[in-house]
Amino acid sequence: MGLPQIAKLPEFVFFCEKSTKMSLSQRDLEKVWHPYTQMKTAAPPIAIVSGRGAELVDEDGKVYIDAISSWWTNIHGHSHPHLAQKVFEQAQKLEHVIFGGFTHPSAVELAERLLPILPPNQARIFFTDNGSTAVEVGVKMAIQYFFNQGIAKKRIVAFDLAYHGDTFGAMSVGGDLSFYTAFQDFLFEVERIPVPIPGQETACFEAFEKILQKGDVAGFLFEPLILGSAGMLMYQPMVLDRLMKMAHEHGALCIADEVMTGFGRTGRFFATDHCEEKPDIIALSKGLTGGMLPMALTTCTDAVFQAFYQDEKSKALYHGHSFTGNPIGCAAALASLDLLLDPACMANIQRIESRHAAFLAKIKNHPSLLYTRQQGTIIALEFKTGENSGYFNNLRDRLYLFFLERGLILRPLGNVVYFLPPYCITDEQMDRVYAALKEALEEFAGG
Ligand SMILES: *Cc1c(COP(=O)(O)O)cnc(C)c1O
Repeated sequence: MGLPQIAKLPEFVFFCEKSTKMSLSQRDLEKVWHPYTQMKTAAPPIAIVSGRGAELVDEDGKVYIDAISSWWTNIHGHSHPHLAQKVFEQAQKLEHVIFGGFTHPSAVELAERLLPILPPNQARIFFTDNGSTAVEVGVKMAIQYFFNQGIAKKRIVAFDLAYHGDTFGAMSVGGDLSFYTAFQDFLFEVERIPVPIPGQETACFEAFEKILQKGDVAGFLFEPLILGSAGMLMYQPMVLDRLMKMAHEHGALCIADEVMTGFGRTGRFFATDHCEEKPDIIALSKGLTGGMLPMALTTCTDAVFQAFYQDEKSKALYHGHSFTGNPIGCAAALASLDLLLDPACMANIQRIESRHAAFLAKIKNHPSLLYTRQQGTIIALEFKTGENSGYFNNLRDRLYLFFLERGLILRPLGNVVYFLPPYCITDEQMDRVYAALKEALEEFAGG
């Protein structure tokens, strides 16, 4: 009779420990400041202690499906053993080395292996740490490209609802997204054109042509095919093709911000692969390391590179960060590339694409919906709402909690709920997300 009681003892001790110790979430609330969070009114953060595949586990053992790929970064699933192994091996060999004047095998190999899958006009790889800096470097490349040649072209053109990151340069090129009001007076000037969503193409072409006529446009910067933060707004490859052609006809450089769309998100390796015309400069980050480590790249054509490749020291690109070209980041990126280039990965991307399409076909006429959209592995459902439908809309918070309660991480952008999974997500996990989306359509009918 004694044994069963002894067997129960550890559970009892665990319970006592828990009730006297503060949770991770509570400890966090006292010391940490979170991004994009009103700390006073936000719910306590959920403390995640482990992850595997598309799932994350919190400190109480609750399991969540990461249906937004942890802010669009994760492509192969959490703590993937192949990535973990390669990171481990690299860390034991060389953790970091200055990248000015020095190089290392993983950086060289990454450049050599990436160029063949990038658009064929791309010739050089510049390393940074995150999407914002990748875009800033792209804009700097475009401006200095003309400066170095003594050509008076300085103007940057971008979409009115663009999102390109949160550093000052990236905020400047970003559109009006209501996050940046306090900094408005500190941002440099950018020409705006409307997002060419279906029905707005002509307005966009006309606005662009008018700006190009001024003759001093240095760069046209865009999120190809999908504007993520603006609410997963989508436009056609044909339209982007035409915009890039117009820019090139006027001697401007095209800068593709593929930070979200890169590495298979849209069904091809890169979103601009859907177009004939090719960008001159490409910013990459989120999927680059498979979601394992922060790292970013800005790639460019040989023509762009040649404008900097001069005898004068002053014509160099003076940009760099302490951890530029970090070997462990490169090792993670190489490991992620191994998985991406495995045919099983493209098969998964196609599986997600066709299941997404089948789901949207079933629900697209639901009375709770304004629009549905899909591009590759991303679907977006725009809910009808009584109130104004901006980022701060309260329907967003109710939807967010609704999904969290069901063990699903779906983080709506205003009234737009999007599903952007790691490619390894299972059919069963996808079905749970679809079921909850359907349930939400009933629950939130009328906003
Ligand atoms: C996330 C994102 C960025 C910014 O990347 P960070 O790594 O968050 O700095 C830039 N552009 C696009 C399109 C993005 O989605």
